[in-house]
Amino acid sequence: MKLDAWLLEILACPNCGGALRPDDPAGELVCTGTCGYAYPVRDDIPVLLVDEARTPAP
Ligand SMILES: [Zn+2]
Repeated sequence: MKLDAWLLEILACPNCGGALRPDDPAGELVCTGTCGYAYPVRDDIPVLLVDEARTPAP
């Protein structure tokens, strides 16, 4: 997974507005805000849709 640093800086969680942290092994962007959703990255394109997000395990 290759994401530019500048891209990560402007991206925010669409659910809570928190910053996103790349999780390379999982190929996901994980929200570091209040919701903790994990968004998939497909072909190096982050899919920042709440409907596509993986919610954290309870
Ligand atoms: Zn969030």
